[in-house]
Amino acid sequence: MGVNADRRLIVAVDIGGTRMSAGLMTLRGDLIDRTQAPVDQAASEHELFDALVGLVDDMLVRADEHHHLDPIAIGVGCAGPLTADVESVSPANLSMWHHFPLRARLEAAVSLPVYGGLDATSLALAEGWLGAAQGRSNFLAVVVSSGVSGAIVLDGQLVEGATGGAGQIGHVVVEPNGRRCSCGARGCLDAEASGRSIEAITGRPPTEPSYEIMQRTGELVGRAVASSCNLLDLDLVVVGGQVALGFGATFFNAAQAALDRHSRVEHTRGARLTPARLGDRGPLLGAGALGLRGLRRQGLRPVPPRRRAPEADEMDQVDRVDQVAADGVEVADGVAETPAPVAPVAPVAPVAHVAATDAGGVAGAADSRPSGAASSSSEPAVPAQPDEPGTSGASGASPA
Ligand SMILES: [Zn+2]
Repeated sequence: MGVNADRRLIVAVDIGGTRMSAGLMTLRGDLIDRTQAPVDQAASEHELFDALVGLVDDMLVRADEHHHLDPIAIGVGCAGPLTADVESVSPANLSMWHHFPLRARLEAAVSLPVYGGLDATSLALAEGWLGAAQGRSNFLAVVVSSGVSGAIVLDGQLVEGATGGAGQIGHVVVEPNGRRCSCGARGCLDAEASGRSIEAITGRPPTEPSYEIMQRTGELVGRAVASSCNLLDLDLVVVGGQVALGFGATFFNAAQAALDRHSRVEHTRGARLTPARLGDRGPLLGAGALGLRGLRRQGLRPVPPRRRAPEADEMDQVDRVDQVAADGVEVADGVAETPAPVAPVAPVAPVAHVAATDAGGVAGAADSRPSGAASSSSEPAVPAQPDEPGTSGASGASPA
């Protein structure tokens, strides 16, 4: 490549129901720039995509003209359902995208390889790398937003399951005769505690909750989390998402109380539930981590040439939020306790370690990616990756 490792960047993209964000992340996990735009729910499939490309182009221009750095891949975190690496996305909160071929379209538009996954996977990677689960090899990440989703990290590896659907805590039953869920069952957590369900139940948006609804939502999440901890031998749960974080202490206290009440077997006694710690940087850092992880698994896949160059005046289309003066990988709004002081800057650490290793595990089922362009390679993808997890991942980030 001839590209100095210090200069390489991941373009991180987070796609939600109310806004889309894009940012520039160094391979050490510094978010050095970002921008965002509100989602127009009345937009067509193509208009929404064009808006997204506008954000990414804005970041590409900034990377080149302002930071003089070289983007090498795009990482995308998106609400589900979706297939591996956002090949096809049908976000429940973006009805205009139904089986939308996001990966192929984005690669064609900006000529960079695209990797991605669910918002909950993104949260797990970010919090495990730099946030509340830093240095932890076993934890559950839960997003309580307009929908409820989750991701499991066991023995340092992100658990994906036969079809990539592992971690769907939204479909753990918490009310046996409860509301009908989108999956067809009754009383799933998603049907009782998601932002969409709260609005359907109360007639008010989840941004205007009563004390009772905040407490009930916490109780139900705590219930599902307790069963998951009992099942999987976990004692740490990191919870993010606008609904959970918006409900704040009332939610977290109720959830912790339910977790205490229902996790009584020896291995889960004392299990803790803690808010995601990376704040509004989390989704972009997680998306960037998805990009890094994809690079390790698949290498720099060839992509079509750019259909056109980004133009500077396109930058006016979007609403730049700010320029993040990222200071190392320090976490801004700290939560009281310090997670095990392992791995200073373990890159997508031990979590994404799965990238280079799982191909050897359940070989054929290592991923369900149908395209398989270069996915048969189990090589640690990026040549001369400066921060390959390597062995312990402890000092992996040194940009040698
Ligand atoms: Zn369900």
